[in-house]
Amino acid sequence: MGDVVVIGAGVSGIQAALDLANHGVVVHLIEREPTIGGHMAQLDKTFPTNDCSMCILSPKMVDVQRHKNIRIHTLSEVEKVEGRAGHFRVTIHEHPRSVDVVACTGCGDCIQICPVEVYNRFDAGVGVRKAIYKPHPQAVPDRVVKDAEHCIECGLCYDVCGPQAILHEDTEKEFVIEAAAIVVTTGYEVFDASKKSPFGYLKFPDVVTSLELERMINASGPTGGEIRRLSDGKEPESIVFIQCVGSRDMPLSRPWCSCVCCMQAIKNAMLIREKHPGIAVTIFYMDVRAYGKGYEEYYERAKNVGVRFLRGIPSDVQADKNGSGLRFQVENTETGEVEILHPGLVVLSVGIQPPDTTAVLARNLGLPLEDTGFIRSVHDAMDTVGTIRPGIYVAGAAIAPKDIPDSVASGESAAMRAFIDTKKATAARVRSR
Ligand code: SF4
Ligand code: SF4
Ligand code: SF4
Repeated sequence: MGDVVVIGAGVSGIQAALDLANHGVVVHLIEREPTIGGHMAQLDKTFPTNDCSMCILSPKMVDVQRHKNIRIHTLSEVEKVEGRAGHFRVTIHEHPRSVDVVACTGCGDCIQICPVEVYNRFDAGVGVRKAIYKPHPQAVPDRVVKDAEHCIECGLCYDVCGPQAILHEDTEKEFVIEAAAIVVTTGYEVFDASKKSPFGYLKFPDVVTSLELERMINASGPTGGEIRRLSDGKEPESIVFIQCVGSRDMPLSRPWCSCVCCMQAIKNAMLIREKHPGIAVTIFYMDVRAYGKGYEEYYERAKNVGVRFLRGIPSDVQADKNGSGLRFQVENTETGEVEILHPGLVVLSVGIQPPDTTAVLARNLGLPLEDTGFIRSVHDAMDTVGTIRPGIYVAGAAIAPKDIPDSVASGESAAMRAFIDTKKATAARVRSR
């Protein structure tokens, strides 16, 4: 049976890989980050069940690692694709990890001793990481990676590593995989909130993004689950969420709805109210989009625990008069009244967009993009995972913003289409003998 290449190892790619592997197909799971898991690994809870995100995802990550039919290629990107359905030749470019993954035990002694601290992308900048690091404690593979850009070559980690797993030099590598089909599940990245400058992101420390709040709320995150103002380390008395930041925004040429941010804000607002009933929480919105199974009931629950919903979006966030806090003015579009607020913490519900590498990858695969930059599938209703290239399928948020259930469902769907291609490739080989 032909192999399948799955590009992107978020929840959609993981689901596709497991489904294919469980049907006896050898899967090459390509991930540009040092660990599989994608954005779901950063989240605290999932809506509408409030299940711990990693409690669902981590066992699947371990299943992927242990599956005899799955080969994980982290720090890897697709360079070139040649051939056709049943006979693709996929060239993979692997970036250096500077650590021997076979020798490394993942003990973390090198992390402890490394003196260099840098911005931690996994913690969305709320915490720091070392120049040699594990993206997070449940990373798969459970191995460290050395960040050559920030390493000062002090030599301390080499001395402390018992198995001598840290490499002084490592190189870029290329290899080719032959595959019957390809599934693209490259996911999303979040909007850069500094592009919406009136909201003061990066200007005011107490204006944070929804992803930063996720890391703060997470018990295994950088604040141990405590909600803190970044300006003074104190718990805020009030928190406001501003919705649709970088979504449904014509002046920024971003007309699409990001689908998940209403529910994400409702979830986090509810978690804050349940854990800290003393914190007043208000969500400023244009429309509340609670469209999935159980979502409307979830929205009602949030109102019942005291989350306030106010229809109106402020035009900007300013420093208050004495300069120690924040202030904004907003019109409640349901009552016509203007309110002035002094929130302790402002959370910008940032939209989602295709990763910056999508355009190059789509060109390499010969796939067209939507005006939004997401990958175009054959039909938005009748063939959501097929592409104009037979044998290449697209799933998850690579097609458009999607929540976790829809991402998993489209990963499953794409996997089954790819599976059929592997069967056809096998049948063609048998016939030609
Ligand atoms: Fe431990 Fe060495 Fe691996 Fe660091 S590189 S985690 S010290 S085995
Ligand atoms: Fe950190 Fe680099 Fe020093 Fe190792 S050599 S401890 S990675 S700074
Ligand atoms: Fe705005 Fe809600 Fe759509 Fe997000 S899901 S873009 S917050 S309407």
